[in-house]
Amino acid sequence: MILHVDMDAFYASIEEREHPELIGLPVIVGGTPQGRGVVAAANYAARAFGVHSAMPARQAAKLCPNAVFLPTRIDYYAKVAEQIRDIFQAFTPRVEPLSLDEAFLDVRESQKLFGNPESIGRQIQQTIYQQLKLVASVGIAPNKFLAKIASDLEKPAGFVIVHENAIQAFLDPLPVRRLWGVGPVTAAALEQLGIQSIGQVRLLPADTLDAHFGQHGTHLWNLAQGIDDRPVITDKVARSISHETTFPVDITDRDVLRAQALALTDQVAARLRIRGLSGKTVQLKIRFSDFQTITRAATLAAPTQLTQPLWHTVQQLLAEKLPRPNTPIRLIGVGVSSLGNDPQYQQELFPDETAASQLQLEQTTDLIRQKFGATSLTRATTLLRRPPSEGDINSPPTGA
Ligand SMILES: [Mg+2]
Repeated sequence: MILHVDMDAFYASIEEREHPELIGLPVIVGGTPQGRGVVAAANYAARAFGVHSAMPARQAAKLCPNAVFLPTRIDYYAKVAEQIRDIFQAFTPRVEPLSLDEAFLDVRESQKLFGNPESIGRQIQQTIYQQLKLVASVGIAPNKFLAKIASDLEKPAGFVIVHENAIQAFLDPLPVRRLWGVGPVTAAALEQLGIQSIGQVRLLPADTLDAHFGQHGTHLWNLAQGIDDRPVITDKVARSISHETTFPVDITDRDVLRAQALALTDQVAARLRIRGLSGKTVQLKIRFSDFQTITRAATLAAPTQLTQPLWHTVQQLLAEKLPRPNTPIRLIGVGVSSLGNDPQYQQELFPDETAASQLQLEQTTDLIRQKFGATSLTRATTLLRRPPSEGDINSPPTGA
């Protein structure tokens, strides 16, 4: 059996734990009620007002005027995620993280030590609560697809088991949106065929779906039967690390943009160093005022966790790969992927003495920041080129 463990309102629950005075109040992490950021997470009290993640913060504030807005502390949440992962690892080495707050666990070989899958699921849920004061939902099923649906069905503190002989009874009544790969477009197309539930998909002849959706049709048909052969892939290394900022007002000044890009690069590099990772591919993401979004990437000669070489590449991407030079920019993001922490990666880290001493300097900076807060040390450029806030007289809000 496969377990899917998913933390409930993860960022918001961590903040509630850290601020007991907030318990019972609607809490929104990410964005500001006046600003244009988006909601990263909302607790259940806020969700009762219709607030959900990825919603513009301004809209969330309208729906829920009494909400307490808190800034996102992604580095801290990442540390809590590591504690959760340690709990998973105590039960099985076969853990596949999907994001900071959810993972698949293959527990087939852990049963002699820890009991049957249900018992392991309960122990994990209890251990997370006892050690971290956080609530998780657990889904248990013969495969990943079913386990993921199961963990979501009875949130928060859900615990749903799908036994082999009950797969059809479990899936049939669910809406087609629950099938992996069915978004609004496919759901609408299926509705055109009069199909709303997974049970209806299951009863279709496989070639009917094929005729309408090609390969994708076969995939949907298999899922509707509850068939999913994908193994749990143990992947201790994150696939990418990135940070992005939505500006309070659209940015046209390219120097301001560069300063923000440097701050983001610095944050990404700090997270690489905290996790002992190095990355080889650098990505720049830009969203223009009309919401057109582009990404540009470049590959480094050698993997790094240093701000300097990453910044060098980000600067090049900004200078050479950015279309629409005069269009205002709404969002900028910097990411690093092709991550690794194997010895080969480590060797390439120190091509020369300069890099070694640069690493030492940047690690010291990380320590000071961890101890005294993120703003204790700020690169001079970032300070000088603060983006205009909405209060600034000369920069009226633009865009939608
Ligand atoms: Mg979650």
